[in-house]
Amino acid sequence: MVRGTTLLPEVKSHYGDLKNYVGGEWRTPETTAWLEDTNPATGRVIARVPLSTKDDVDRAVQKALRAWDAWRETPPLDRARHFFVLRDLMEHHAEDLARVVVQDMGKTIDEARGEIRRAIENVEVAAGIPSLMMGYNLEDGAGPGIDEEVLYQPLGVFAGISPFNFPVMVQFWFWPYAVATGNCWIAKPSEQDPTAMQLVMDLVHQAGFPAGVVNLVHGAKETVQAILDHPDIAGVSFVGSSSVAKAVYTKAAASGKRVQAGGGAKNVLVVMPDAKLDKVVSNLVSSCYGCAGERCLAGSVVVGVGDVHADLRRKFSAAAAALKVGYGLDETVQMGPVISAGHRDRVLGFIDRGEQEGAQVALDGRTVRVSGYDGYFVGPTILDDVRPEMAVAQQEIFGPVANLFAVGGLDDAVELINASPYGNAATIYTSSGKHARDFRHGVRAGNIGINVGVAAPMAYFPFGGMKNSFFGDLHPQSRDAVRFFTESKVVITRWV
Ligand code: NAD
Repeated sequence: MVRGTTLLPEVKSHYGDLKNYVGGEWRTPETTAWLEDTNPATGRVIARVPLSTKDDVDRAVQKALRAWDAWRETPPLDRARHFFVLRDLMEHHAEDLARVVVQDMGKTIDEARGEIRRAIENVEVAAGIPSLMMGYNLEDGAGPGIDEEVLYQPLGVFAGISPFNFPVMVQFWFWPYAVATGNCWIAKPSEQDPTAMQLVMDLVHQAGFPAGVVNLVHGAKETVQAILDHPDIAGVSFVGSSSVAKAVYTKAAASGKRVQAGGGAKNVLVVMPDAKLDKVVSNLVSSCYGCAGERCLAGSVVVGVGDVHADLRRKFSAAAAALKVGYGLDETVQMGPVISAGHRDRVLGFIDRGEQEGAQVALDGRTVRVSGYDGYFVGPTILDDVRPEMAVAQQEIFGPVANLFAVGGLDDAVELINASPYGNAATIYTSSGKHARDFRHGVRAGNIGINVGVAAPMAYFPFGGMKNSFFGDLHPQSRDAVRFFTESKVVITRWV
């Protein structure tokens, strides 16, 4: 496998002033409003992001609608062939894509490689669309000599609105399925780190997707409002914080659009007394501090059951304290910065507040500095003696901060998880099949890990989520996505 090597350590200069990719061409949007996009490790501006207007969104929708006429008539196998080409291009440029993700989002290079791998896997799964999209039939299903069948058909133009923390992968939870099923797509990445999707669109262009089938529109909340208000957008896939997810879900549904909206998280990792603590600790550390805690599947609450708490605190703190924090392009770095100065201040504010409310700071990341870099670093932090009523226990922090709780039994842990308004992920560490089974059965969360700290579904499984972590019915990825992007038509046939 040849890996692309075209990028310098800093993002290519032509990413400076970003453009929209609309109707197969790069266009500077009409807007006069632009945002600066910084590298979170250096604090340096690497791009300016246009905040596309209603007219910019409409231009993309019109191009997509025009493209849809021919794209929906293109046989599924021919549509799939574009994904085979894209897959090879993405493999070739995987390292370029990963480096751009590091420079714009801040995660480590290995985490970014993992993100690109997950994106490619979704392309690979969506390339199986001739099988995935098949309907079903029943001879004599509606009576003697009367056959009945179901067809799945595309709906038109969909838009995908994604968060900053996986600037490439989250778009790929959706668009390969939307486009493979015969719809057209408008991507609206996060305004905080949109450059990697810029590179993705270069590859989409090279893969020969017809003009207008896949489009990219930059912007922030006003652009999202224009998407939600547009009458010719059939549906919206959203991922972001819970309050925005709920608002997007409500508004899109009220205007008759299909909508699936992933929200925030506060994931609990339960450590049973029968768990193999030495094996558990490294798993806990990568769950809580991978991607600097900016992962919707990150562990943020660690619950020690029974007498495990003291040992757990000691070993977990020692392992977390040993993490090397720095610029993610350095292969030896294990944790990068958070996304922005504003977010760093918010995370630090949570730690201060936790301490004021009575939590004990068992490991303090507030003073961490990285020599040579002025970016937005927060070190791994552990808050012990956290009580459920504290702000740090109730709100999503989305940074490298883990809360420690001690509870008496597994039932208490399950109760604590189920009392949370979030339901994205939950993990149990145990060597008991009975405990694992009770946990899996009783916990209300969409992605369950059993001795797995980040229960991230592969592309051929749906990405779960319950309660305020997901609004809608059909989830991202795989068959759920195929169903979301198609509507079923029933045909009853009698020949006389
Ligand atoms: P965010 O909600 O601030 O932004 C997400 C997207 O919505 C962005 O594209 C942004 O431009 C847009 N947006 C922001 N405010 C808006 C508003 N008021 N109206 C309309 N659109 C708006 O989220 P973020 O900070 O980029 O991402 C972090 C959040 O995403 C966390 O809460 C995290 O848990 C969540 N997340 C969830 C999942 C999941 O699968 N459930 C996956 C990844 C991230």
